Amino acid sequence: MQQPAPVLSPDANSMDDLCAQLSARADQVSDIADWPAESLRLCGASGVYRWFLSEDMGGYGWSATDQIRGYLRLAQSDLNTTFVITQYMGALRRIAASGNQVVIGDWLEQLASGERFGTVGISHLTTSRRHLNRPVLRAEVSGDGYTLDGMSPWVTGAPHADLYVTGATLPDSQQILLAVPSALDGIEAGPGNDLVALSASCTDQVTFRRVHVDHSMLLSGPSEHVLQAAEGVRTGGLQTSTLAIGLARAAVTYLADEASRRDDLQEASTELCREVDALEKRLLHASVGDTDCDASEIRGAANRLALRTTQAALTAAKGSGFVKGHPVGRWCREALFFLVWSCPQPIAQAHLCEFAFGPH
Ligand SMILES: Cc1cc2nc3c(=O)[nH]c(=O)nc-3n(C[C@H](O)[C@H](O)[C@H](O)COP(=O)(O)OP(=O)(O)OC[C@H]3O[C@@H](n4cnc5c(N)ncnc54)[C@H](O)[C@@H]3O)c2cc1C
Repeated sequence: MQQPAPVLSPDANSMDDLCAQLSARADQVSDIADWPAESLRLCGASGVYRWFLSEDMGGYGWSATDQIRGYLRLAQSDLNTTFVITQYMGALRRIAASGNQVVIGDWLEQLASGERFGTVGISHLTTSRRHLNRPVLRAEVSGDGYTLDGMSPWVTGAPHADLYVTGATLPDSQQILLAVPSALDGIEAGPGNDLVALSASCTDQVTFRRVHVDHSMLLSGPSEHVLQAAEGVRTGGLQTSTLAIGLARAAVTYLADEASRRDDLQEASTELCREVDALEKRLLHASVGDTDCDASEIRGAANRLALRTTQAALTAAKGSGFVKGHPVGRWCREALFFLVWSCPQPIAQAHLCEFAFGPH
């Protein structure tokens, strides 16, 4: 089995090698049977999962800016695998930030090495099923822990996970965040939904039928807003925009290559490349805490640019790009994902306005 060199910085040669391998595999992926096990293995063996952990926790301690630069490269090469990694790293980072030494000791290194896979099911506490009268995943105190009952509606890599980091609501409306091993009795993960794009992320609901979780697995809470309480971990933020800009970069790179042979594409290609460069620059400024760069403004701009660049690439690719298997068609479908993935309400509202009344 091939052992890649570790990627110790976003500019390392080993990063180019890893991205080339991911990119070559991305075109073969289309449905739930194509879970990217080998791409995830390559990322684990390259140390990708250590980018996100401090050195004292066994990581490489990359800065926020380097993490974003790394994600930009990965997303440009293979959005499906990169998206799976964001959810996996969501679980890893919440465990690292929890201070729970039992879970850290039992799980962190195995997740960071890629030996075991973890994921998050937390959207029902933020952007999913919030309009319903009753929480979809409920917890009650029982004996030396909690009993979970209900479901987590969106869990990426659900059938492949060894561990779920998930949130649940207690009868008094307080929330808890737990690390839940998938082997516990009463857990059932769906095989993955057939999606408009990213089906190979095997995203599905996970059902919990009176699952007993030991108190030692509590990561945070009980508290009113358990996801906000976790130090050093933010939901949404710049990560989603990073993946959208990585996808836009893939599209404009394709367009520029076509434009090198076709004069009629040059003006559009030059303008869209300029916009991707400018937005990437704003993203990197925001990652060092530049307060002039508003994260939600960047998210809206990244969504728009992902849609525009991928559709420009399809226009250039013509009918050939519309044939299943051509990367440009896949990128167009993937761009739609950013309209729904952890999309904050004000941004969704702004998009609706533009769709209804046209851009300002
Ligand atoms: C491919 C994919 C992967 C994902 N992976 C993860 C993951 O790994 N972990 C994770 O935590 N989350 C994940 N998510 C969840 C994501 O971040 C959002 O939470 C999700 O897209 C919200 O969509 P929803 O349909 O659940 O929203 P909901 O708000 O529940 O909407 C569902 C339906 O309810 C109705 N509705 C909505 N609002 C109202 C209202 N106000 N009044 C009446 N009816 C209403 C509409 O008919 C709507 O279609 C993923 C999502 C996708 C698409």
